[in-house]
Amino acid sequence: MRTLKNTLLKLAGGAALSAMAIGHSFAAEPVWDANTVELELKKIGKGVYAVYDSRADDMAGKGVPMATSSGIIVGEDGVMIVDTMMNERLNKQLFSLVKSVTDKPVKFAVNTSFHGDHSYGNYFLPESVTVIQHSNAKKYVDSHFENDTQFMIQTFGENRGIEDVKASTGDILIAENGQINVDLGGRNVLIKDFGFAQTGGDVFVWLEEEKVIWMGNAIVSEKPGLPWLLDGHLVATLNTLQSVYDFLPNDALVIPGHSYPVDKSDLKWNIDYLTDVKSNVSNAVSKGYSLEETVKSVTMNDYRGYALFDWVHPGLNIPSAYKDLTQH
Ligand SMILES: [Zn+2]
Repeated sequence: MRTLKNTLLKLAGGAALSAMAIGHSFAAEPVWDANTVELELKKIGKGVYAVYDSRADDMAGKGVPMATSSGIIVGEDGVMIVDTMMNERLNKQLFSLVKSVTDKPVKFAVNTSFHGDHSYGNYFLPESVTVIQHSNAKKYVDSHFENDTQFMIQTFGENRGIEDVKASTGDILIAENGQINVDLGGRNVLIKDFGFAQTGGDVFVWLEEEKVIWMGNAIVSEKPGLPWLLDGHLVATLNTLQSVYDFLPNDALVIPGHSYPVDKSDLKWNIDYLTDVKSNVSNAVSKGYSLEETVKSVTMNDYRGYALFDWVHPGLNIPSAYKDLTQH
């Protein structure tokens, strides 16, 4: 447990790694196995599909971590996919799902962050696909790819196809606070940086007509899942989630990084949690508590239910919040 805590403190200090990978590094078994999970498709609107772990229909809401989500957006001229998966197997599954709904070619792929389970699949894309990601995501991959894959193998297991991946980054880069519109032919997609969400290289994909947003790991899943402050920045993350919440209409559909489509109330759950973390940790800091005392006192048992609560809350989020709130 001490090693776990040290790892998390180190993570909170700067290294950026996949949330699901972290979960696994403390579990005896992978939280999900990239060799066995199956993806399924849910039609959201004409030519718009959410893709997610097929176990979600039974297991969502139970706080169990699931595979990376994705999306398929079909325009008259071609298709955009959201996130490219961790290995060739899942990338191919995603392409099979595309084929099951349209003959049009995949023209664009978006990475909601650099996390390997959202972007390693770039390497398996045909040359003709244009990859869109945040400029900070590219920067991270350009300088950390070797370490990142080592970590992913260590945590997701060997022979999960990660060994085959080579660094492959974006063709179109979104600058900090930037956004672009992509016209797929009769369908306009907004890809936007709302601010620091989990990695500092996060983008969101928004379809105005269908009122659907892909959020990547900014929210991992529905209630009782919790956000992971892997790179710290509690206050910035909270502000970003609030900006997204304010941007969205009340009946918006929200696709988390690792579950099936939910609604704004699940985004609110994440915001409420971080708001309570902020006020409780601020309170502890104002009393002069040490990090250890803060972790011990800010238990927030009302938010229990997530399978990874005992790692993510005391081990990661409270130390990240403490660091963030004592730096300002
Ligand atoms: Zn992820």
